[in-house]
Amino acid sequence: MDLGLRGRKAIVCAASRGLGKACAMGLAKEGVDLVVTARTATVLEETAEEIRRATGVKVIAVAGDISTEEGRAATLAACPAPDILVNNAGGPPHGDFREWDRDAWIKAIDQNMLAPIFLIKAVVDGMCERKFGRIVNITSAGVKAPIPNLGLSNGARTGLTGFVAGLARQVARHNVTINSLLPGSILTDRSMEGAAHRARQANISIEDALAEATSAVPAGRYGDPKEFGDACAFLCAAQSGFIVGHNMQVDGGRFNATIA
Ligand code: NAP
Repeated sequence: MDLGLRGRKAIVCAASRGLGKACAMGLAKEGVDLVVTARTATVLEETAEEIRRATGVKVIAVAGDISTEEGRAATLAACPAPDILVNNAGGPPHGDFREWDRDAWIKAIDQNMLAPIFLIKAVVDGMCERKFGRIVNITSAGVKAPIPNLGLSNGARTGLTGFVAGLARQVARHNVTINSLLPGSILTDRSMEGAAHRARQANISIEDALAEATSAVPAGRYGDPKEFGDACAFLCAAQSGFIVGHNMQVDGGRFNATIA
C-alpha cells in the first residue's frame, strides 16, 4: 500500500535509537524527508546516515535535548513547517514515588508532557492552514494500564493524553490528525533497562526478568521496533485522515480488555 507520503517532511524526536529511530525509518521508507533529534550527536549522525543510505531521503540531524526550549528551537529552525511530527523523548526513571522530589516531577513533565505540547503548539496552525498534518505522540502502555514502578511516566504521559484528546477534535476538520501510540514490551535499550531494574528488585537474572516480561504478552515475545515504526507510518498516511484522537497500544495484546 502506498501511504501517499512521498516528498512530505517530518520531525521525528528522540530518534537515534529504539522506537523513534524505527518511526524515522518507517517514514523514510515511504519517501518522507526527515529532521531527527537526540542528545548524543555521534549516535544521531550514525543513525541519520543509516537512514539516508537505506532509503535515499534527506535526513537532517539536530543534536539537542527536546525537553528544553533550545532543543526545540533548533529542531524547528531545521524544519519550521513539517507535515508530520512524531513526539518522543526518553522515559523517566523507574522507582518509588517516595523518592521523587519536585525536580524529578518537573523533569518528567517537561520531557513527556510539555515538550510534545510546545512542539504541537509551534506547528499545528501551519498544518491547519496547509490542510495536512499528522501528529503521533509516542506515549506508553502505562497510560491505559499504570505501571507500578513508573509513576512519573504514568502521570506525565496521561497529562499529555488528556490535552491532545481535546486538541485532536479541534484540528481534525483541517485534515490534521493527532493520535498516540502506546508501546509495551518492545525490545529496545529502554526495555532492557526495565528488565535490569526488575532483576535487581527481584534478585533474578536479566534473562529471567526478560522471560517474565514476555510471559505476560499474549504474542509470546518482545515486539520488534520495526513493527512500531510501521504502525507510526500507517497513522501518518494520507489515507489516515479519519483516524482521530486514538490511543493505540502496540503491545502484543498485553493490555487485557474487550474494547481497548
Ligand atoms: P530508548 O531505546 O532508550 O531510546 C531513546 C531515544 O530517545 C534515544 O535515541 C535517545 O538518544 C533519545 N532521547 C532520550 N531523551 C531525549 C531527550 N530529552 N531529547 C532528545 N532525545 C532524547 O527508548 P525507547 O524504548 O525507544 O522508548 C521511547 C519512548 O517510549 C520512551 O519515552 C519510553 O519510556 C517509551 N516506552 C517504551 C516502551 C518499550 O517497550 N520500548 C514501553 C513503554 C514506553 P539520546 O540518549 O542520545 O538523547
